[in-house]
Amino acid sequence: MSTLFFTDPACLTHVTPPGHPERVERLRAILTVLEAPEFATLERRQAPPAPEAELLRCHPEAYVAQIKASIPADGTHQLDPDTWVSPGSWEAALAGVGALNAALDAVMAGEARNAFAAIRPPGHHAETATPMGFCLFGTVAIAAKRALDHHGLSRVAVLDFDVHHGNGTQDLLQHEPRALFVSSHQFPLWPGTGRAEETGPHGNILNLPLPPGTEGPVFRQAWEEIVFPRVAAFDPQLILVSAGFDAHRDDPLAQLNLTEADFSWITHRICDLADRHAGGRVVSVLEGGYNLDALAASTAAHIRVLRERGA
Ligand SMILES: [Zn+2]
Repeated sequence: MSTLFFTDPACLTHVTPPGHPERVERLRAILTVLEAPEFATLERRQAPPAPEAELLRCHPEAYVAQIKASIPADGTHQLDPDTWVSPGSWEAALAGVGALNAALDAVMAGEARNAFAAIRPPGHHAETATPMGFCLFGTVAIAAKRALDHHGLSRVAVLDFDVHHGNGTQDLLQHEPRALFVSSHQFPLWPGTGRAEETGPHGNILNLPLPPGTEGPVFRQAWEEIVFPRVAAFDPQLILVSAGFDAHRDDPLAQLNLTEADFSWITHRICDLADRHAGGRVVSVLEGGYNLDALAASTAAHIRVLRERGA
């Protein structure tokens, strides 16, 4: 039992225009920090790209076809003010879904206690039939559906600590009461959703809006008092994590003031819950994080704790 790390070179072929925060260098920064000696024994795997049928767990066929048709032969193409595609974007998206699904399958098979997938484009803003916020497909929601429908689980928790509301995951899972979706995020902030009142038609959505300037101790207290008891009551058989590191104090896109120590803390506490309820099963996927140094250090901190807890 240990920790598996999944990534795919195809995720480096999704290119955005110069100056765009969600850039190839993000993943390169993570791969570089993982070259440190302490990660020499981290088991790395590459998975096949997901078949298109996996996208249909969450998205209609017409939307999948629309995204596929939007991919340019060269250069970049803009889908909305924030979201771009390039010639490699289709392969990158399928590689990302394939990587997270493979991470899920490996953890479900008992090949590892937990896993992390370093992929891009991110996924938690993609809605049922709308690309949004750098995201094309709801990668973590697809994995949640796969855990339920392919692996036969009946309770899956998806915990999202990215600084932005996981509006896409909420949209994709709000009609799926076998999933509990929790998002903590800065509010107000783009995309403008994620109020505490948004609980979904089945009550399986928990939003934790945090004001700009929130520091680590307040963040921790909110998760401790509001989120963890709710997750414990849900008694998940698996915990999926949307690990965005843009709540870091050095991130240029938002104004929360977390540090690497806070990301270590939340990873430990998620593993505590997983140990108690889910046989230790934690499958985590990269979402945001736009200061390269903060992203690399925070991802390393997250993986360090996963390895400690997975040992
Ligand atoms: Zn974000």
